[in-house]
Amino acid sequence: MTSKQFVMVLKRLKKEYSKWKAPVVSFMAQTGKDPFRILISTLLSLRTRDQVTELASQRLFAMACTPETMAKLPIKTLERLIYPVGFYRNKAKQIQDICLILLDKYGGKVPFTEEELLSFKGVGRKTANLVLSLGFDIPAICVDTHVHRISNRLGFIKTKTPEDSEMALRKKLPLSWWKTVNELLVAFGQTLCRPVGPKCPECPIANCPSRKKTLNEMIERGENRGRKFGKLL
Ligand code: SF4
Repeated sequence: MTSKQFVMVLKRLKKEYSKWKAPVVSFMAQTGKDPFRILISTLLSLRTRDQVTELASQRLFAMACTPETMAKLPIKTLERLIYPVGFYRNKAKQIQDICLILLDKYGGKVPFTEEELLSFKGVGRKTANLVLSLGFDIPAICVDTHVHRISNRLGFIKTKTPEDSEMALRKKLPLSWWKTVNELLVAFGQTLCRPVGPKCPECPIANCPSRKKTLNEMIERGENRGRKFGKLL
């Protein structure tokens, strides 16, 4: 798939997007572009379901929503507020450490360079890129499992890891789509192009090279009986 075709896919997904639930971090960014909240909710979202992240973020921000107030929370309180997000004990410690560094080194503000964000323990490329794009409006490609899987399924890139996918997308994807590609593909990946059992008969992307293979597998299993095919791109 060429860059032009991939952009056409993204445009089509943008039209469909209102029917899907926005990814939790994008939803939070729409409710207020606060880099600190985006950093903390992205950390909470790692290896955690959206619904759990949303509730944990709401509980935490209701008690403390700045580095000053959050740093003052006892670690046990932090753990209790964010439970049951994945690795909640580690994350509580990471959040406390990040708050202290922000206060000590950055005057209580979240820095806006990739290098500085990556220097925080627990912050990887995915988190750093999401903070840059959603918190600061800086073009950055946040590649999570959905972006990695779908870009490969569509045949736009051919990579083994999310890190490789980020580098490949940086070369091929027009800059104007860097900030939105994550939001669109995450919502698409949670709704139709799922990791297991993608809903190809309902998918509007007709020129997907994985479509035929998945449909054939469904036919073999007799799973497509009585289902209508969606309107194609
Ligand atoms: S046709 Fe299937 S595999 Fe291809 S993008 Fe759509 S849901 Fe994903």
